[in-house]
Amino acid sequence: MKNIQQFDVAIIGGASAGLAAALILGRSIRKTVVFDTGEPRNRPAAHAHNVFTRDGVSPLEILAIGREQLKAYPSVTIAQERVITAAKEDGAFRLETASGGTFVVRKVIIATGVKDILPEIAGIQALWGNKVIHCPYCHGWEAKNTPIALIGNDDMAYHLIPIVRNLNKDLTVFTNGKSAFSEEQQAKLQQQGIGLIETPVTAVEDAGDGMRLVLADGTVHHKQAAYVRAVRMQFNNELAVQLGCELEEAGSIKVDEFQQTTVPGVFAAGDVAHPMFHQVMAAAAGGLKAGGMCNGQLSMEDFEK
Ligand SMILES: Cc1cc2nc3c(=O)[nH]c(=O)nc-3n(C[C@H](O)[C@H](O)[C@H](O)COP(=O)(O)OP(=O)(O)OC[C@H]3O[C@@H](n4cnc5c(N)ncnc54)[C@H](O)[C@@H]3O)c2cc1C
Repeated sequence: MKNIQQFDVAIIGGASAGLAAALILGRSIRKTVVFDTGEPRNRPAAHAHNVFTRDGVSPLEILAIGREQLKAYPSVTIAQERVITAAKEDGAFRLETASGGTFVVRKVIIATGVKDILPEIAGIQALWGNKVIHCPYCHGWEAKNTPIALIGNDDMAYHLIPIVRNLNKDLTVFTNGKSAFSEEQQAKLQQQGIGLIETPVTAVEDAGDGMRLVLADGTVHHKQAAYVRAVRMQFNNELAVQLGCELEEAGSIKVDEFQQTTVPGVFAAGDVAHPMFHQVMAAAAGGLKAGGMCNGQLSMEDFEK
């Protein structure tokens, strides 16, 4: 007969959001399992910034500290496993893992993050998180006051321009094909002295102290770094969909201010639970709230029995 393991709470995803949830649950003596496949979104970056008390520390080291500190709380188990299915079952939830494990839990926290789908430009993946960057709050200080590129061609890219411009006076926008900016937006760029180049970018290359953008017409532009807008963000929301949770238009899991999804007993936190505000501290804060809410509900349910 199949071995079914029972826990109070399953946390799916063990990075900033998931580990923060595990901490408050461990301190509440809740039998908690954290499933994690070890692919946090910021793993390509050497340093994480805007992380209170850990500014500049490696993202993987921050998570290692998080896991280490959980060892003080023996009710928490970390399983290096992928959860592949989730279903409601008799007032609880049944999870199956890729290695064939079955878990029945009273509450679920989904903290599975997002995946960045980058434009098809040769060399982009190798420089991602280093010289190809996405966020001025994460990497802007390190690249400030240098010649900088921004590859993007939509309203979100346009929204980024003033924020980058605040850090870099020498800014060139590469639309990687015909500009989709409005005439008004293009006039504003011109007025601000921001270059706009429509020729497709075929490759990005490391250049030691800086990088090169190679265009389809053979021209090469030397910059310190290039901001890139992901073509799209893939929210890792499959398990939420299986459980019947509503999604936002962007694909993030719809939650209330306490990280409760539209399915009672299922919570979501971190990048997967917000359409666009994606930062380590925000993810951890969401995990903390989700863990606290789970424990509050479990305590009340046991008290009312
Ligand atoms: C290159 C880069 C650099 C960044 N730098 C910064 C920075 O300097 N400062 C900052 O504040 N933010 C930074 N960010 C944003 C930051 O990475 C995210 O906000 C943060 O990682 C979100 O944490 P999370 O726990 O929600 O998700 P993630 O960190 O993405 O973690 C999700 C975890 O869930 C696991 N998982 C997914 N599906 C399953 C499943 N089915 N079963 C089991 N496990 C699963 C994954 O393996 C992963 O470990 C950066 C992002 C990028 C792309």
